[in-house]
Amino acid sequence: MTTAPHKFASGALMISLVNGGFFLLKLAGVTSSFFLNLGYWIFCIIGGVAAILLHFVLDWISHIDPRTFRCTRKSLIAVTIMVIECMFGVFLLWLVVRNSQSWENISLVAVGAFLGLLVDIFDELIPDLGFRGIRKVFFFRHLHKIHYKYHTDVPKRPIYGIMTQLVTIGLGAFIIMLFV
Ligand SMILES: [Zn+2]
Repeated sequence: MTTAPHKFASGALMISLVNGGFFLLKLAGVTSSFFLNLGYWIFCIIGGVAAILLHFVLDWISHIDPRTFRCTRKSLIAVTIMVIECMFGVFLLWLVVRNSQSWENISLVAVGAFLGLLVDIFDELIPDLGFRGIRKVFFFRHLHKIHYKYHTDVPKRPIYGIMTQLVTIGLGAFIIMLFV
């Protein structure tokens, strides 16, 4: 998928897991600030891991990205579109969180959004920047295999791919607004 749906989905998952988990701890009657703090950080770790893994699920859903149009990612037009799309995604995310009074929640969304892009950063951005050797390292070689094993970037019609991405962004924005 392109970067905006990843940012919104992983940001939403992170903020909802951490806030939801913390709420459940309080509901369960935990009052000790030590355990509340510990629980908060544990939920942060769970949310972070989930935000990273969600990347694979979204890539599995029918979507479009430069490969859909058989565009080599290094062509100037593809790079320009990807940079604009990435900046536009950050701008949209800022629109959604900008009225929040809680820096903690804004940070959760920002960290979740970043972690949602981690797979692409290590498997696409870093090799594309010229560090192709990274794919020879055991872990990243396997990451690459898994990343593209269930990658659906050629939908039956591009419009279906665009729709799934817009729905993902909309749903993510809705969930973030509930918590932020
Ligand atoms: Zn990906």
